[in-house]
Formats: sequence, structure tokens, C-alpha cells
Amino acid sequence: MTERMECMCLECGISHYIPISDLTIENVPDFEYPLVTNISCSECGGGLFVVGKEGEQPRYLTG
Ligand SMILES: [Zn+2]
Repeated sequence: MTERMECMCLECGISHYIPISDLTIENVPDFEYPLVTNISCSECGGGLFVVGKEGEQPRYLTG
């Protein structure tokens, strides 16, 4: 079973669940979350960042 990551769009804010094996991730110094460099939002074409593993409590809700 492939683990999936929750990736949120920087532009429209919707979440995408993408298998880890499909993701290319880049850590950037000025941003708290890793950015997805190879996949864009299917709704608006915006950039995505990794919130966490699927099913985990998002950090923005738990603080
Ligand atoms: Zn979007």
C-alpha cells in the first residue's frame, strides 16, 4: 500500500492526496513546509506544498 501525502495548493487552498512515490519535494529555507516541484494543482495550476501524511492531524489545526 502506497503512503500518500496531503499536499495543499498555495493559490486556492484545496488539498490533494498524492502518493509519495509520485512526489518530488524541495525544502526551501523561507517556508515552513516542503514544496512540491513536479506537480501543480489540478484545479488552478498553482504550486503545492506538503502538509503531512494522509490521515495525520494537520499542524495548522492542532497548533
Ligand atoms: Zn489550486
